[in-house]
Amino acid sequence: MLRYFVWTIGCQMNKAESRRIAACLESAGYEEVKSFPEADLVVLNTCVVRQSAEDKVIGTLGLLKGLKDRHPELRILVTGCLVNSDNQELERRFPHVDLLFKPGDYNDLIAWCEGQGAYVEKTSPGYWLAALRASTEGCEVGAASPCAFVPIIQGCDNFCSYCIVPHRRGREVSRPLEEIVSEVSELARLGTKEITLLGQNVDSYGHDLPGHPDLADLLSELSGIHGIVRIRFLTNHPKDVSLKLIDTIASLNKVCEHLELPVQAGDDDILKAMRRGYSAEQYRELVGVIRDRISRISLSTDIIVGFPGETERQFERSLALVEEMRFDVVHVAAYSPRPGTIAWREYRDDVPKEVKKERLSRIEELQTVVAGEINAQLQGSEVEVLVEGRKKGRWFGRTRGNRLVFFEDAGEWKGRLAGVQVTRTSPWALIGKAT
Ligand code: SF4
Repeated sequence: MLRYFVWTIGCQMNKAESRRIAACLESAGYEEVKSFPEADLVVLNTCVVRQSAEDKVIGTLGLLKGLKDRHPELRILVTGCLVNSDNQELERRFPHVDLLFKPGDYNDLIAWCEGQGAYVEKTSPGYWLAALRASTEGCEVGAASPCAFVPIIQGCDNFCSYCIVPHRRGREVSRPLEEIVSEVSELARLGTKEITLLGQNVDSYGHDLPGHPDLADLLSELSGIHGIVRIRFLTNHPKDVSLKLIDTIASLNKVCEHLELPVQAGDDDILKAMRRGYSAEQYRELVGVIRDRISRISLSTDIIVGFPGETERQFERSLALVEEMRFDVVHVAAYSPRPGTIAWREYRDDVPKEVKKERLSRIEELQTVVAGEINAQLQGSEVEVLVEGRKKGRWFGRTRGNRLVFFEDAGEWKGRLAGVQVTRTSPWALIGKAT
């Protein structure tokens, strides 16, 4: 039997797609291994959102060239955001790659497998995934987690000035609602309890489908699926979050009180240069409405520091926004120019590296204090945890608000909802005992 290894870097979407690639290869008769040297077929699922990620991808392609020189029978496939519509340059730079296929597009992968003599059932990737789960039930290597990621929309129409994603993943394409419902039903039948719907901008879901179902409609449909106890979705765009969606989250019990709502900056001129389509004040108002209508909502955000031209004053507006909003989680990144983007074409990357680093640390330090205070309020309370597995002798899982929780207990908890009394807190996690 031929052996495959999927190497993944990047966001949740890439991780979800890698599971689908693995499932497709299993259905073609390949067997999973855990390292490059053991594999006959390697798939690199790449990310180029930041320079550091791209450097790792290029380094790994170099390593694989050496491996292929020694073992010419090795086959190398590449997908993810490195791949774009015009791959001539990539083919010239990396002649040792056997196939470049666009992220989320499995037809080329299937055709390639068939060209190697394999048979792949032409069905929804969700069914391959479900088949993979069934074949690995009770075994550590499978997608046996109670939580599953389900892509619902590919690509992005927004063209934020710093972002490479629309240039690589193309325009928005939604998956038909019925296809998602049947995939989630199948996952539920096999034991999945929580699903996270994925898209670069989930709020755009459905605008390109007949009848224009939206994310709220999809959440309502999925809520009816027996066995699914929690539903999450990411990532939202603040300019596209509708009142209908907010009210749907508030009214559907299975939809978790947890929103990823990237603000990116607290200064209006920077937001404009980023082409985000809202002001800091509009963002504040949106958060106000969300907090009014959804009790105990947990909010995460993303911030970019050191965008071209960002002055100390402008950065301080981001810092002030983080302090004022009291987000549950803040992901902060230093601006990294990506060739081909609007910001790369039009602005000079003029904030020195050390300044970016210092601004990044200031946001992180502030958020550590804020998250520490928010979590400390949960001391002594009971939280509901969906248990994902064990780590270092303790059970771990997440609350509805996506807080990581560890607890010790002799029982078998994987895949179950546990009541946990919080005995200790930190900015990053809660620790407790099963009640
Ligand atoms: S919304 Fe903006 S940041 Fe997000 S994927 Fe689209 S272009 Fe990139």
